Amino acid sequence: MSDRTAETGAIQISVVAPVYNERENIRVFVKEVLIALEALDNPGPHELILVNDGSTDGTEDELDACAKDHPGVLRVLHLARNFGMEPAIEAGLDRARGEAVIVLDSDLQDDPSAFAAFVEKWREGYDVVYAVRSSRQESLPRRALFSLFYRVLGHIAQIDLPVDASNFALIDRNVADALRAMPERNRFLRGLRAWVGYRQIGVPVARRARHAHRTRLGLRGQWKLAMNAIFAFSYVPLFVFRFAGLIALIFSLLLIAWALYYKLVVGLDIKAWASLLIATSFLGGINLLGIGVIGEYVARIHDEVKGRPNYIVRRSTEFPPAP
Ligand code: UDP
Ligand code: MG
Repeated sequence: MSDRTAETGAIQISVVAPVYNERENIRVFVKEVLIALEALDNPGPHELILVNDGSTDGTEDELDACAKDHPGVLRVLHLARNFGMEPAIEAGLDRARGEAVIVLDSDLQDDPSAFAAFVEKWREGYDVVYAVRSSRQESLPRRALFSLFYRVLGHIAQIDLPVDASNFALIDRNVADALRAMPERNRFLRGLRAWVGYRQIGVPVARRARHAHRTRLGLRGQWKLAMNAIFAFSYVPLFVFRFAGLIALIFSLLLIAWALYYKLVVGLDIKAWASLLIATSFLGGINLLGIGVIGEYVARIHDEVKGRPNYIVRRSTEFPPAP
């Protein structure tokens, strides 16, 4: 815990959650979070910041009604459109004033009763306390995909990414400030959070089943996150193609030697079109793949250089005056 409580308006704990089409969940969610906060040992002043990520299902009205029910605690940001989960979290982090910030999903899959364990570890002196999924309520193929992804990423990333760490975490003010200071656009919070260092610890938390709906992120959203994770934290995809290029080169050299041997020593002609076809298609394929990988990094550079904001806030409910 840092000693800047006075400076940051005395809020002890901020809770930040992205909200996208969670109309059926949001009231239960707010209730559960507030109960968990009140139940904390010496909770102190706290706030709940909900970021509506361009919901289209009436979540907006629900959120405004909730904000009226809990003045002084609940603050709602409405983004100008659906920017995605990571920008929505970023918008919340940018406005959180707490000495510690807890980030969690608003679809009731993350269990707010874990707050107590998080805060306990934080008060022990840890700067990042993240939930480690002790169970994943997903279909088997999805589970297998997730697990494969984390293991591959763990091997090729330049940082130590804890396996199965989720977005659900408490971060200290210092870490929140460090994260906010990063202008990076294609954000992968779990990666950046691990990257900043400090004292970090995982706490096992069972993931609950989806309450009122299927996934909002979907496989496409997960794919985007996975690509951000890989290309922001690893150069291995580039190296793979350098290596493949080398193998292809050796292979085609052998092919040439073989053709020359048949022609000069054995005296048999090999059909020119056959060897040409093998060589060109092989090298062509590798070239195209390699260009695709380079293109992925270039596109990301382009994205960073454009420097557009990651999100736009359309309107927000009044920020409660600091107690
Ligand atoms: N979410 C969001 N914007 C999006 C997609 C999702 O703010 O474009 C929120 C969503 O409301 C939820 C969290 O991000 O609180 C995680 O999304 P989801 O539950 O779909 O992810 P999954 O459980 O599939 O990992
Ligand atoms: Mg979910």
